[in-house]
Amino acid sequence: MKERQTILFDLDDTLYPFHKHWDIATRHAFETSRWTSHLDQEQLMKVYLSEDTKLWELHKQGQITLKQLRRIRYVKTLSHFGITISHTESDELFNVFMGYLFESLRPQAEVHNLLMCLQEKYNIGIVTNGFIDEQMEKIRRLELDKLIHSEHIVISEAVGYSKPDRRIFHHACSKLKSYPNKTIFVGDSLFNDVLGSLNSGLTPIWYKTFDAPDYDGVLSISSLDELFSILGY
Ligand SMILES: [Mg+2]
Repeated sequence: MKERQTILFDLDDTLYPFHKHWDIATRHAFETSRWTSHLDQEQLMKVYLSEDTKLWELHKQGQITLKQLRRIRYVKTLSHFGITISHTESDELFNVFMGYLFESLRPQAEVHNLLMCLQEKYNIGIVTNGFIDEQMEKIRRLELDKLIHSEHIVISEAVGYSKPDRRIFHHACSKLKSYPNKTIFVGDSLFNDVLGSLNSGLTPIWYKTFDAPDYDGVLSISSLDELFSILGY
């Protein structure tokens, strides 16, 4: 009998459009907050996105944690408009945003159908960077926990390593009892998912959610349905 292969998926912006939900929830939080509801919302988003880009760069360099990034992002954005908020108030604003983001998540029929189909032939898992509580809340709201065994959901906070560290990919492979060279990794991030899995001996498939030049020797898709033709269905 042919050995079952494994397909691992990234979560955010791969199994659901995180950025779309992020944008809507961010705007909703600004429109309803006592600190920001009176401000020009487009101008506010512009400043917020610019702070977001700068802070993510510092986070990638290891200079600030994700919690610090989230906190400073509101403090700096509001200070641009002459508004001073404390760290606690910034955290409150973040929690309101996160609440809106969770509330907006619904199971997606196409993704469920795809995973159910693939499960007939493959072992399926998720490897995601983030906090356990938040990532599990997203997974539950998307009802992916009904399709994927909890042991096969790997979250960086629980493992102690984040993508692109090869230890998280190898941890996931051992959880799914799969060899890296028998494992496909599908994700949207070139750095974390594609290069991370490639350097760990897995076969990446790059889910390109925006226009980007190809990466030599790496298969790419622009919709998850394309997986069927790549996998020979
Ligand atoms: Mg992603």
